[in-house]
Amino acid sequence: MTVPRFADLAFPTPTRESLAADHAALDAGLDAGALGDTLATWDRQRRDYESWASLVHLRFSQDTTSAEAKAAREYADALSPEATGHEIALKRRLLAWPDRAALESALGPHTLRLWETDVTTFDPVIAGDLEEEAKLTARYTELMASAKLAIRGTTTNLSGLAPYAEDPDRGTRHEAESLRWSFFAEHGEELDAIYDALVRLRHGMARKLGYENYLPLGYRRLRRTDYDAADVARYRDQVAEHVVPLVARLLEARRQRFGWDRLRAWDEALIDPEGNPAPIGDHDTLVAAARTMFDRMDPRLASFYRLMEEGGFLDMRNRPGKAGGGFCTSFPSVGVPFIFANFNGTHHDIGVFTHEMGHAFQNWESRNLPGIDQLWPTMEAAEIHSMSLEFLTYPHMALLVGEGAAERFRRMHLETALAFLPYGVCVDHFQHEVYARPEATPAERHAIWQRLERRYMPWTDYGDLEYPAKGGRWQAKQHIYNSPLYYIDYTLAQCCAMQFWVKARQDAPAALADYVALCGRGGGAPFQELVRSAGLISPFAPDALKDVVREAEGVLAA
Ligand SMILES: [Zn+2]
Repeated sequence: MTVPRFADLAFPTPTRESLAADHAALDAGLDAGALGDTLATWDRQRRDYESWASLVHLRFSQDTTSAEAKAAREYADALSPEATGHEIALKRRLLAWPDRAALESALGPHTLRLWETDVTTFDPVIAGDLEEEAKLTARYTELMASAKLAIRGTTTNLSGLAPYAEDPDRGTRHEAESLRWSFFAEHGEELDAIYDALVRLRHGMARKLGYENYLPLGYRRLRRTDYDAADVARYRDQVAEHVVPLVARLLEARRQRFGWDRLRAWDEALIDPEGNPAPIGDHDTLVAAARTMFDRMDPRLASFYRLMEEGGFLDMRNRPGKAGGGFCTSFPSVGVPFIFANFNGTHHDIGVFTHEMGHAFQNWESRNLPGIDQLWPTMEAAEIHSMSLEFLTYPHMALLVGEGAAERFRRMHLETALAFLPYGVCVDHFQHEVYARPEATPAERHAIWQRLERRYMPWTDYGDLEYPAKGGRWQAKQHIYNSPLYYIDYTLAQCCAMQFWVKARQDAPAALADYVALCGRGGGAPFQELVRSAGLISPFAPDALKDVVREAEGVLAA
């Protein structure tokens, strides 16, 4: 495989006609009994389509103000249900193929299980709803990107507030949080309206497909083949039992260390009394330091990183008009993934960078697996690769934050990882209640959030921040709008990543070898099978969190 440069990437733009013609040719191939050739042709076409769609979405994220990029994204979003329709029809036809053994030996049993799930999530009758769903989520993204917030003599967007929100000065932190929530208060009605429309739309799609509500459809859209909502509910209970009390103790210890009367919401982001450790330098410094880090960690990580860097597959500077957040996307026709981020000079830069590198490395290690369905695992498994790399880079952290701050960075990251679990399961529990009661009013949804917040984050004290105090915090979480029911995946993966951390404390090379092997298995198996293959305990097993929580508490108490 020759590796191209990102700037040279171009993929043919599909049309309704070209998709239909491709489909007809594949049908004709199957009519003639040519299973192997047809599967190979179709795999190539799906890779081209995905590469094109991924490039179009990436270009829009790189510049949300470009009319051309926006029009291309809208074109792709409108074409997407059409492409899904063809894809599902072919999957249905293949799943009914008389020679099941031949099909299974060509694709593997897991791919067939995925397809059996996929075909229950789509019917042409919801094509219009899917297009509407894409429009509503794009509206949320644009609204979030439009924030212009004036603070300390400069104007910034929501992600640009992060450094102020964890400033050592309490007044600055409070100002940042006041600004953030005044933006949400100002747009509260629109945010409620967008979400209300999304919930009703998703519920309607579920009803059209024969489900009671969106929950079973949502699980299937996420291709969850080996666990259900009852497993997830038990996992949330484990977090409530093992993690919530520990985080409460950590926050109380912090309150005493800082000498605050109470720990307010705007205090939670400041973890280290000396100020949260920041990267040693700007974008270029960090990119160069990471090169040394990966060189020391593993030859495969090292050569992959150089390939990304030299090919231009990294875009991590913050700039006006760029969409917020960080993600990794891929171009399956060429094999090299892409990392998108918004560096802001805080430790988040390191977190995002190591996280997205984990995704990218997995995708690259899996590039020779048979068939496009295996290039990425399902999302909860994919997050193991990213979140584990955040922990596996711990021993090399001095390169990124300086010798004196490395230990402080590790403690801060570990404490943040623990505190994330209650928040993450709260986001998930909220969505389960929302989709179980789609007729609830916006005010009732805010009340649901408030009640769950008290269960999972009883320490939360919003002080004079009225909007979140009334139950509005969930509106800042883009996954609730754009990726329904996905958020629990991060908490499931965190449970696995922390197990890698415990292993690495005992034997770092062995933990890294298990990690690289897991990356190579990509999406060849369902979640729990992948977890077990790496020697980890499934998060759904009783007490899966107990040992990692005990280890973490020991380290943080030291
Ligand atoms: Zn991720």
